[in-house]
Amino acid sequence: MKNNFQKFKSTWSKIKENSQLTESNLTKEPFELVIATPISQRTRSINIKISMDNLRKQFPITPTALANADIKEIEKAVRPADLFRIKAPGIKRVSRIVSEKFNGCIENILKLSIKEAREQLLSLPMVGEKTADVTLSGMGEKTVPVDTNIRRIIIRMYGLPNNTNYATIQKTVSCLIDDDNPFEAHQILIGFSKTFCKPVIPKCDLCPIAKHCDFSNPCKD
Ligand code: SF4
Repeated sequence: MKNNFQKFKSTWSKIKENSQLTESNLTKEPFELVIATPISQRTRSINIKISMDNLRKQFPITPTALANADIKEIEKAVRPADLFRIKAPGIKRVSRIVSEKFNGCIENILKLSIKEAREQLLSLPMVGEKTADVTLSGMGEKTVPVDTNIRRIIIRMYGLPNNTNYATIQKTVSCLIDDDNPFEAHQILIGFSKTFCKPVIPKCDLCPIAKHCDFSNPCKD
C-alpha cells in the first residue's frame, strides 16, 4: 500500500466537493433500505428508483404489507430491476420473517447492540454485509457499507489486491472518512465513483484526487 491514510484523508474534501448525489439514493427508512439494497444488485440506479416507486405506488413499504402481497404484483413492480423472479420472492420472504420474528417492525432489530443487530440482519434472506451495513448506517450507526463502487475506488487508490476482503476495505474507508456520517459518506463515494472512477475506463485525467491514487501513479513509491 503506497498511500497512507493521512494522505487519503487530505483528499476527502475533494471527493465530497466533486461527488454527485442522486435523490434516489438518499432514503433512510430502515425497511426500505433492507428491500432496496438487494433490488439494487446487478441493475442500474434508474431501475432501482423505478422499482421502488412502483412498489410504493402499489403497497405501503412495510413488512406486513409486503408479506401479504401477491407475488405477481411484487414481480410486476420490481421487473425493471432485472432478476425480478429472484428478487420478488426474496422481498416477500424477508418481509414475512420480519413480520413474524420481529413483530413487523425492523426497528426491533435495530434496538439490539450493533453486533447483534448486524447478526440478525445478516440472518435475513437476501441481506448480505452491504445491506446490513447500509441499514445500520441509515440508523446512524458508525458502520460504513462497502459496495462495488467503494470497493473499486479503495482498491485503486491504495493499490490493494482485487481479492481484498470486505472487512479490510471497510476499515480503510472508515479511516478515510474519519468522523463523517458513514451513511452520507457511502452515498458520496458512490456519486464520486460514478462520475470519475468508472469500472472499465476511469476518468483519471479529470479526477481531482488523481495525484494521491496508486492506480493513476503506478510507479510512485
Ligand atoms: S485517479 Fe482514476 S483510479 Fe484513481 S480514484 Fe480517480 S478515477 Fe479512480
